[in-house]
Amino acid sequence: MKPILHPSLVNDPLGDPGLFVQFLYEKRAFLFDLGDLSPLTNADLLKVTHVFVSHTHIDHFIGFDRFLRIVFGRDKTITLYGPENFIANVEGKLAGFTWNLVDRYEESLTLEVVEVRPDRLRRATFRAIEKFQRSDERDEPFDGGVILDEPALSVSAAILEHRVPCLGFALKEKFHVNINKDGLTSMQLEPGEWLNRLKQNIYEGASDETSVQVPVTVNGTQETQEFALGTLKEKLVTITEGQKIAYVTDTVYTPENVPRIVELVREADLLFCESPFIAEEEDRALERRHLTTRQAGLLAREAGVKQLQTFHYSKRHSHQTDLLVREAQETFRGE
Ligand SMILES: [Zn+2]
Ligand SMILES: [Zn+2]
Repeated sequence: MKPILHPSLVNDPLGDPGLFVQFLYEKRAFLFDLGDLSPLTNADLLKVTHVFVSHTHIDHFIGFDRFLRIVFGRDKTITLYGPENFIANVEGKLAGFTWNLVDRYEESLTLEVVEVRPDRLRRATFRAIEKFQRSDERDEPFDGGVILDEPALSVSAAILEHRVPCLGFALKEKFHVNINKDGLTSMQLEPGEWLNRLKQNIYEGASDETSVQVPVTVNGTQETQEFALGTLKEKLVTITEGQKIAYVTDTVYTPENVPRIVELVREADLLFCESPFIAEEEDRALERRHLTTRQAGLLAREAGVKQLQTFHYSKRHSHQTDLLVREAQETFRGE
């Protein structure tokens, strides 16, 4: 199986938290948290369609300006998710600039901002062409789980405790479409862009009779052949379990929080979990509303995740990051 989702931390574990997830074969990415974004290129940021902000402490939100600078003046809609008060936080950022020249741009950026509350999703729109005035405020039902639902993937959020509400996120590929190379060879078909359309049809649940146009080369000339989706599925496609990637930061190990985190990240292929403090600093972690290495390991273990990567290390441990890694991994493996 060739993974579709390619996640990597934006900074090293002592730097600002953030996760960049690229999609294979697509010019698309998701960004979790907007801290220091300097390692990301402008081209990286231009791929981002959805931003998921855990909370707006400065180390998670200072990068909003850089992001806005890059996407401003483009004909795009970008959706940003965050916890309670997030619409006001974004509005405050936008109000910090002067927008009298927006009508000189031919392309207009739209920001859809979604605030995740316990009982609903509150949405507001900010259009560059309207000088980023807040508009179209409306509420949508929220069942405490999925905040983004697309044919191929979903993102869930859990509201966690950090003295302020802080969101944890899980990104799930609903199922994985594998293309069988031997099948391509035996049908004498070349891989190409059409495979993305084929996958799209499958994710959208198109009927087996749907016709799929496939470019073929006959005697050195390019032609298009039509195949029924059902035929291609039967000869070329194997469906397997999709990937799950979870991101949890800035929260605390309490009896209320632990089950929320475990449920959110259950059986993730890869959990990115903060661990600012070493195991013996449990009191400090509780007081600061953060996790220790051991607690990150316990959460990952209880949730049955396959791989744990810790980050958001406290600068006080910059001389012993190996200890932070070891304590978390040993607890995770039950050693
Ligand atoms: Zn933080
Ligand atoms: Zn914080």
